[in-house]
Amino acid sequence: MKIYIAYTGGTIGMTPSENGLIPDAAFADHLSKQLAEASELTHDFVIESYAELIDSSNATPKDWAMIARDVESKWQEYDAFIVLHGTDTMAYTAAALSFMFANSDKPIVVTGSQVPMFKARTDAMINVLGAISACEASEEENAAKGVSLFFGGRLIQGDRAHKAHTSDWQAFSSPNCLERGVLGIDWRWQESPQKISSITVQIPDMAEDAVTILPVFPGVQAEHWQGLLNENVKGAVLLSYGAGNAPDKNADLLSLLKTATDRGVVVVNVSQCGAGNVVAGAYAAGSALVAAGVTSGRDMTYEAAFAKLHFLIGLGFSSREIRGIFDR
Ligand code: ASP
Repeated sequence: MKIYIAYTGGTIGMTPSENGLIPDAAFADHLSKQLAEASELTHDFVIESYAELIDSSNATPKDWAMIARDVESKWQEYDAFIVLHGTDTMAYTAAALSFMFANSDKPIVVTGSQVPMFKARTDAMINVLGAISACEASEEENAAKGVSLFFGGRLIQGDRAHKAHTSDWQAFSSPNCLERGVLGIDWRWQESPQKISSITVQIPDMAEDAVTILPVFPGVQAEHWQGLLNENVKGAVLLSYGAGNAPDKNADLLSLLKTATDRGVVVVNVSQCGAGNVVAGAYAAGSALVAAGVTSGRDMTYEAAFAKLHFLIGLGFSSREIRGIFDR
């Protein structure tokens, strides 16, 4: 199998500096040696280090598109792709890639680690080897195809992952969807339907300022959101309470939202609970959001809702079309 591994930055390949850990360009060689020593791995690996390695907390939608273009440019040459990425925004990148490579029959596995590879007690190699194992499995298992995030033994659908822990080896969860596979000594796979459609690669230009996040908290005021809903914004993820609620007694807040949705901003309601569904209109406090033109994000993670808004806005869909896509 020909496997392309892109090191984009992130803890997995970091090294100490005066200001703390920073990505290390020499990591690609180091990983290459480690893989060469694993004699049972007979794949053809090509490992590339990006020219500008980043801590993923600096990543923007431009980086998602850059990674996607890199994968697309090598699509015919390789059987599988592994993207080594920082954990901070890994779930956003995995979601964005899963929209950009819809129905992919080749595996694109995003992974990284909690502890750098140079440390003795690290999860780096176990995550890389797990990602390689998922790539191998894709020859037979449909569940291993497409975009996934592998971490701590779990292969999670790319648009279902959520960073759920700062320090556990199991840093990512799949709150509203069973994992595609769980790797112990062997894989345990979820049933996966036979893929019927063929891959659609769409890599839009995404403007960094097009999407925002609106937090709901006790005492939230219109003034808190005013700057967030500026004229460049075309989409917003509203982080609501519980099953999709926000204060319905604050007329200014609701009118700010209504003005935004009337001018075409797509506001998607996702619960700050982190798991479960938004049930639009279950409470009066939720109905007020529906009346203000807010769209339900149902059981999406906020990472996926954010990336999907960027993706659809970048493709040039109208607000009406984007709302329709979220509704479906
Ligand atoms: N700050 C690092 C990053 O996201 C954290 C990590 O990789 O775990 O690049």
